[in-house]
Amino acid sequence: MATVYLMDLRKKYNEDVLKVFDRFVDMAGGMKVVQKKSPAAVKLHVGESGNVNYVNPRYVNRLVDLIGEAGGRAFLTDTTTLYAGRRFRADLHIALAREHGFDFSPMIIADGLYGDEYVDIDGAKVASLFGHVDYMFCVSHFKGHLNCGFGGALKNLGMGCSAKGGKLEMHSKSKPYIDDSRCTQCLTCFEYCIHNAIVKNGERIKIEKRTCTGCAGCMSVCPEGAIKFSWDAVSSDIQRGIARYAASAVKNKKVFYLNFLMNISPNCDCFHTNEPMIASDVGVLASQDPVSIDQACYDLIKDAIDNLHPEVDATEQLHFAERFGAGERKYEIKSI
Ligand code: SF4
Ligand code: SF4
Repeated sequence: MATVYLMDLRKKYNEDVLKVFDRFVDMAGGMKVVQKKSPAAVKLHVGESGNVNYVNPRYVNRLVDLIGEAGGRAFLTDTTTLYAGRRFRADLHIALAREHGFDFSPMIIADGLYGDEYVDIDGAKVASLFGHVDYMFCVSHFKGHLNCGFGGALKNLGMGCSAKGGKLEMHSKSKPYIDDSRCTQCLTCFEYCIHNAIVKNGERIKIEKRTCTGCAGCMSVCPEGAIKFSWDAVSSDIQRGIARYAASAVKNKKVFYLNFLMNISPNCDCFHTNEPMIASDVGVLASQDPVSIDQACYDLIKDAIDNLHPEVDATEQLHFAERFGAGERKYEIKSI
């Protein structure tokens, strides 16, 4: 049975909250995963432009300091998004991270400039950077999610550590296509695709479904946003995909998880609009098991999650993740 630690911000601590955080990370064994002088990946979500619900950078800054004091060399990391926004390409993503206060540490985008760099781990297109790290810190904002009921550590690993092609595979049952009404026939995608899956068909540019690998890189290079895909995967498929990808992302790694159960919004940090929170702040949870930590967060705000999308069974991702060997659902909780 895994242990999940809780820094309970519903109660009063008579000291600086970051000092409580230091003791909390220490108690949860956070620095035991650090390997001296080797790079420590801190995986996070910096929030889409306009979103303010993401994890407070002051906590992440303190975590980076603690890793440094323990002898590790921390850097921040995330991957490019599938949808067109401010995190669609690595350079734009890094600029946004700095705007959102994540400017205290180097940031490396894990799947490369266009999101097409990955390693195959058990059939999952995991962002290539994660093929090079032996340990990492997974910092997640736990909140509601349209497709999965909630998004926490498993979502941050499964979707968040995959290259663009992995995200495409989880969200869509089909390959990308070209919207003729937007395509100017500039041929940028044609020259980019190393799989020769983009062909000229008379006056049209077309993607050959048979040869397309679904890497989704062409979506990043098109200057017109003319390469699209269908969001046609259903909740169960997405949750299963997230669980499978999460298990691949952490394979052979030591990982310390922090889930921030604060600013509990109904949707993920990719949303830029303001929405009423679905539950009051609880605090921060820590564990070395991604399934247990998400299970514990879900149990703490179960009613809010279940009422948000009654049609979605949010526990599927937990069941699937346990089945794929990412962790276990049983846990004990210890409060600081
Ligand atoms: S890059 Fe975009 S606009 Fe250019 S040919 Fe390809 S789909 Fe058309
Ligand atoms: S056409 Fe397919 S294989 Fe080629 S870049 Fe686009 S997604 Fe990748």
